[in-house]
Amino acid sequence: MNAVMNADLHCHSNVSDGTLSPEDVAERASRNGVELWSLTDHDEVGGQHRAHAAAAALGMAYLPGVEVSVSFANKTVHIVGLGFDPDDPAILQGLADTRGGRERRARDMAADLARVGIPNAFEGALKYVGNPDLISRTHFARYLVEIGVCGDPHEVFKRYLTEGKPGFVEHRWANLSDAVKWIVGAGGVAVVAHPGRYDFTPNEEYALFSEFKGHGGQGVEVVTGSHTVAEYSKYADLACEFDLLASRGSDFHDPSESHTDLGTLPNLPGRVTPVWEALAPRVLHP
Ligand code: AMP
Ligand code: MN
Ligand code: MN
Ligand code: MN
Repeated sequence: MNAVMNADLHCHSNVSDGTLSPEDVAERASRNGVELWSLTDHDEVGGQHRAHAAAAALGMAYLPGVEVSVSFANKTVHIVGLGFDPDDPAILQGLADTRGGRERRARDMAADLARVGIPNAFEGALKYVGNPDLISRTHFARYLVEIGVCGDPHEVFKRYLTEGKPGFVEHRWANLSDAVKWIVGAGGVAVVAHPGRYDFTPNEEYALFSEFKGHGGQGVEVVTGSHTVAEYSKYADLACEFDLLASRGSDFHDPSESHTDLGTLPNLPGRVTPVWEALAPRVLHP
């Protein structure tokens, strides 16, 4: 694996809260020049075999991927898993358990939205769901845009569905230790997704990375669609300080909603070690 290559190791299909099929995400990644791709749907590996087959047909190298929802310090943290065996029974069971509370949570979210005058949001969100096991806030956001409550999904997350706002429901996701264990146990590398998004204090962030490493986590996203240019630099420094591998991924969900397209981010800063160097033996070549 080259130190500099167009790797996109974070994006979503309609198997979770993206809008394109795994095949269409593969096709878009390939068209945009991606050389190494991973589909990382939320809490679900149901699209992995389709993604791999589509990548192979397009001549694109592939790494199995997932983005696991974790509760840490009263916040939701996302852990990306790369290069694991998507048929490993322990990760399949762990992800099934993690997905399990989503329908209940969605019904509670809808009840809360009904209290502020937005009825039938559960049924509305469901129209956007590709995988009934994976109803997410993104699907509610699309419905709230459809009915004109907000102009775009970002505005929805500012006014609704986030802590302290109507439609937010506290939820307990996987433990950090379990998420890392499932990924590492299935032969993969665990990566802290978009650390710049969590609004942690410096102490909380230090605790996250110390515990993550202690559990066997090895990587951090440095260049992601969720980071500013200043954050690329901040998290490259953190990768060096914590001796973590650096990852790169757009977090693409949809052609019109996502501000970062597949394969269009800048390269990783030269001082970090790319996660794909450690993952070379796990890459599935076409
Ligand atoms: P959930 O897993 O149901 O809590 O939904 C989380 C998803 O909501 C994330 O993966 C994003 O796709 C989306 N999301 C969260 N915050 C925002 C935001 N501020 N703007 C747009 N999408 C967001
Ligand atoms: Mn998402
Ligand atoms: Mn995420
Ligand atoms: Mn994501």
